[in-house]
Amino acid sequence: MTTNLSELNACDLTSFVQRLHGIYEHSPWIPERAAAQRPFATLAALKQALQAVVTNATESEQLGLVRAHPELAGKAAIAGQLTAESTSEQAKSGLNLCSAEEFAALHKLNADYNAKFGFPFILAVKGPTGQGLTREAVIATFARRLKNQRADELAECLRQIHRIAEIRLNDLLGVKLAFGPQLMQWSEELAQWSDETGALTCAYMTDAHRATANQLATWMHEAGMQVGIDAVGNVVGRYLSDSPGAKTVMTGSHYDTVRNGGKYDGRLGILMPIAIVRHLRAKGEKLPFHLEVIGFAEEEGVRFRSTFLGSNAVTGNFNMALLDAVDTDGITMRDALAAAGHGPAAIPAIARRREDIAAYVEVHIEQGPVLLEHGLPVGVVTAIAGSSRFLVELQGVASHAGTTPMHMRKDAAAAAAEIVLLVEQRCAQGEALVGTVGQLQVPGGSVNVIPGTCKLSLDIRAADDAVREAAVKDVLDGMASICGRRAVEFKVEKIVEAKAAPCAPWLMQQLGEAVERCGVPRFDLLSGAGHDAMAIAALTDVAMLFTRCGNGGISHNPLETMTADDADLSAQVLLDFLRRFSPQA
Ligand SMILES: [Zn+2]
Repeated sequence: MTTNLSELNACDLTSFVQRLHGIYEHSPWIPERAAAQRPFATLAALKQALQAVVTNATESEQLGLVRAHPELAGKAAIAGQLTAESTSEQAKSGLNLCSAEEFAALHKLNADYNAKFGFPFILAVKGPTGQGLTREAVIATFARRLKNQRADELAECLRQIHRIAEIRLNDLLGVKLAFGPQLMQWSEELAQWSDETGALTCAYMTDAHRATANQLATWMHEAGMQVGIDAVGNVVGRYLSDSPGAKTVMTGSHYDTVRNGGKYDGRLGILMPIAIVRHLRAKGEKLPFHLEVIGFAEEEGVRFRSTFLGSNAVTGNFNMALLDAVDTDGITMRDALAAAGHGPAAIPAIARRREDIAAYVEVHIEQGPVLLEHGLPVGVVTAIAGSSRFLVELQGVASHAGTTPMHMRKDAAAAAAEIVLLVEQRCAQGEALVGTVGQLQVPGGSVNVIPGTCKLSLDIRAADDAVREAAVKDVLDGMASICGRRAVEFKVEKIVEAKAAPCAPWLMQQLGEAVERCGVPRFDLLSGAGHDAMAIAALTDVAMLFTRCGNGGISHNPLETMTADDADLSAQVLLDFLRRFSPQA
């Protein structure tokens, strides 16, 4: 039986609950409570309402919902005692086809999981591309989540239940996603070009990087754009307007990756507008501005340790001295560009004219857990955090761990420990402020020697430059007093100082309205990571839309994931934004 949104909006309470009875396992109270929110303007709004009921339920109701699900492993899965929906979903992952070892591993994980949490392990086994997760992926996820704390794991089970419900709702309503599956498919195809086998690495001007650029150019061309690859390697597609004197709205992101990175970081923001242009062209729809889609060649800084090469070229801020930078094989950037057929002399001409550009908007996977925590598929970025990074070296005195009395020590590692806690404590006191000591070493240390030297890194970021600068000052002052008290010397080297890039309120407003028209509440969040929009802010007003990141928000990692539904909703938001875009008065 299928239904549609208008039927669901119009029918009485009993039939509303009845029609949605299979969406959340044995839990009619969920549609019952959500019914009061009718009418739902979009499917996304219905999903949000159902999810909110679960979020607002008591813990015992939530546990009841989780426990209403059959165990993924175990006899029940084999004996076929599941609801019809579960049986067919689990069959897709081939869990009924386990080897003896896999079967044993699943049962061991299942027993440990039940003993630790007291509720069944829930996993939406239909993977992000629509195919079932492999048994290997199911087992790896099971093992990873077994390490979670109970509250986090309960929240994860509820998210998985929402995902299962989403898939069932799509089936029930006969939903055909216009963009999501295509975006997932293209991301998979692009990920096949890598500098190494078995992992996704796409560093600047490697063979894989050039193949990726060519594939993007092909897709842009097929979508109906004028396409070129510029001298720095940016792939630029233009969907031209008929309006006389039209300005250009730019969108895009980067196609290079970190080492062993994820498939969606950067690429999502290029592929999405390509899919949108294809859609517009198929409908014969033009925009009142030129839409320029840029696949930026370099953002991550993997090969030459210099970030934002692509976007800096577009703003005219490309530093030509970088052409002499060398990679670990001693190849200069200049030679790498020449080998790829690019003439670096043409790089300055890439710079756009400020007066031609109306705005820049970038869609990017969040790369963090905030949207996941809030149960929202998309968010509007307020600013890209500014950052300060330092390397610190502490110099104490290395001496005998057995013979030196405690009050006579100059222990560099003990001073470092105080500094780590100072950073944590100080950076917990500001809005949109974070601080991290990510590297901490006792070079040449031994078990029986008091640490003489300790090296650590310091990374402080904030939405507001004054907030960041105040935190940096307090941390450096505190470090001086800790070291003074302990008679430990210290050296501080600043390695990064980047100002925050605020997103333009008028663009955030239009993006937020597009989010709301798609049936999702507007939610604003800070970007703690740097993005091409940060560089483009030197040229024009910028805005960013974040798409929810699965797997706890993990990114820069092969576990980075998102769902076809979230990708699709993001594309609907971007399309709606573009259709209604109105330039700043
Ligand atoms: Zn990125």
